Amino acid sequence: MALPSIVKVAEELNIAFDPKNKTNRKELRAVCPFCGQSHKYHLSLNPDLNVYKCWHCKASGGVLQLEAEITGKSFVEVKLKYFGNKRKNPLHLAEKLSPRQLDVIGWLEVKRNDQEKFKRSFNQIIRDWQQHVYEQRKLAFAKLLLVEVGKDYSMIVNLIQDQSEMAYISTLLDDVMQMYSSNVWSEEWAYEGEYLANSAIDVAKNANDHNELIYLVMLRHETLFLHEQGYAQAL
Ligand SMILES: [Zn+2]
Repeated sequence: MALPSIVKVAEELNIAFDPKNKTNRKELRAVCPFCGQSHKYHLSLNPDLNVYKCWHCKASGGVLQLEAEITGKSFVEVKLKYFGNKRKNPLHLAEKLSPRQLDVIGWLEVKRNDQEKFKRSFNQIIRDWQQHVYEQRKLAFAKLLLVEVGKDYSMIVNLIQDQSEMAYISTLLDDVMQMYSSNVWSEEWAYEGEYLANSAIDVAKNANDHNELIYLVMLRHETLFLHEQGYAQAL
């Protein structure tokens, strides 16, 4: 099955075409859905190549991306809509990450600019994503443990939800709640989270204040920094 026609997709998405377009032209002009004011036809659609480009805001891409950007669906979702699930090779985990998830681990630019490198790097991308999830769970778990020294429970839950949104890990709160309520902490991040929480509690005790949350974030950045510098062994 071929890609859907970009002109047809644009019509379905209610993009307004320039009434002066001729049907047999190589390029059709329309109002840009990303920057556009009505009656300014900055968006150029190329039916032969099935691509779009806005001469004003420089948005550009293929037909599937156009639909994904406008509807808010993920690229993979739009692809499935037209091609179903019949591929020989199932999608690699790295291909299931959304653009925003790729962005937080620093791979979005590569995906957009260097498809070949992106494909070669699937395993590294997944390792980076798992590392990101690990660090975020550790931090969220440490926050949760501060409830035990008197931090307000619903405030902590709100903080973890904010963190979940910023990290693009929708299950973050569930992940740490489940771990907390299980008898055995079966993951390393839970123990590291506990260590982080206890360190923050110690610092607050010594400083004789109640800024455990601030110390938590500070300590985390410090260990991340040392980790990046290769000093992790010294800790
Ligand atoms: Zn535009």
